Amino acid sequence: MMRSVLLWASRNQRLRDALPRYRFVRKAVKRFMPGEQSVDALQAAEDLRTKGFSTVVTCLGENILTLAEAGHVTTHYCDLLDQIAARRLDTHLSVKLTQLGHDLDVEMSYQHVKTITEHAAKLGSFVWIDMENTVYTESTLRVFERVRTEYHNVGVCLQAYLYRTAGDIRRLLPLRPAIRLVKGAYAEPPDVAFQRKREVDDNCVECALHLLNGIAHDGVWPVFGTHDRRLLVRIQQEARMRGVPNEAFEFHLLYGIRQDEQARLLQADHRVRVLISYGSSWFPWYMRRLAERPANVFFVLRNLI
Ligand SMILES: Cc1cc2nc3c(=O)[nH]c(=O)nc-3n(C[C@H](O)[C@H](O)[C@H](O)COP(=O)(O)OP(=O)(O)OC[C@H]3O[C@@H](n4cnc5c(N)ncnc54)[C@H](O)[C@@H]3O)c2cc1C
Repeated sequence: MMRSVLLWASRNQRLRDALPRYRFVRKAVKRFMPGEQSVDALQAAEDLRTKGFSTVVTCLGENILTLAEAGHVTTHYCDLLDQIAARRLDTHLSVKLTQLGHDLDVEMSYQHVKTITEHAAKLGSFVWIDMENTVYTESTLRVFERVRTEYHNVGVCLQAYLYRTAGDIRRLLPLRPAIRLVKGAYAEPPDVAFQRKREVDDNCVECALHLLNGIAHDGVWPVFGTHDRRLLVRIQQEARMRGVPNEAFEFHLLYGIRQDEQARLLQADHRVRVLISYGSSWFPWYMRRLAERPANVFFVLRNLI
């Protein structure tokens, strides 16, 4: 119930305009993002580097309204890649196609992500394409397939709560893809997505095993984006049983979430990347973080008190 309300709030324009003005809300957000500016994210990436973590950065924002904005976002990401290179950080980018104009002109969003990926390739960096709600699943995969045939330094996110995901993994295998498997963060109806947590978790294990099996035969580079300790441990065990070396896959976790697991994985000699978000358009993203763990709402209320 609480999850549904929070996901509804993430799409509500009036709340999106009103709530970020409150200081207690802005204060609560700090738990999940170091600041609104790109320098805040890069500083956090430097701090994490000293602890042994690699990072991914993303500028929050989605469903932009003009093509000019999409152009600005592209320029911003290319500049950011230059700053990452100047600081010699092992930091990748994660981008949302609707922030690159996908709603307005799919072809243009493909051109933008291609520009960013090309720039990243020159600097030895990597670009992840986030997966948004199911309106965009198919078109996102098509954009990914096009960019992937031209560049190796691009990967895509797949969501285990969707029935179609096992099929999408099979479909992408011939591309020897980099796939970031997550459970999925949006509100999706029962005709396309598992509704029960148990079913999502089971499908996530099944897809994870599929990806682990794909390392040797199909050249897949899997990334597991989760904080679920049971799932993390299961993936570690299954990889060990298959003789998959730790360098053949990565774990990605979100900034500020389950730092105990982040440290445990690092100590076990795994490759761990922390995804750091920044930017002023954090409201829908923050509501999705609250929906993942409704207990987080009490943290917001504590800030109010
Ligand atoms: C690197 C990365 C990239 C992602 N990219 C996408 C994407 O492109 N598209 C998409 O739909 N989703 C994306 N997600 C979000 C993902 O779909 C899940 O919503 C999110 O990771 C929570 O699921 P979980 O696997 O951690 O498991 P859960 O079962 O939800 O959580 C397991 C445990 O992790 C902790 N936890 C999880 N979330 C939170 C939180 N918000 N606050 C505090 N504790 C928490 C809790 O201890 C919880 O018990 C991404 C997640 C990560 C880590």
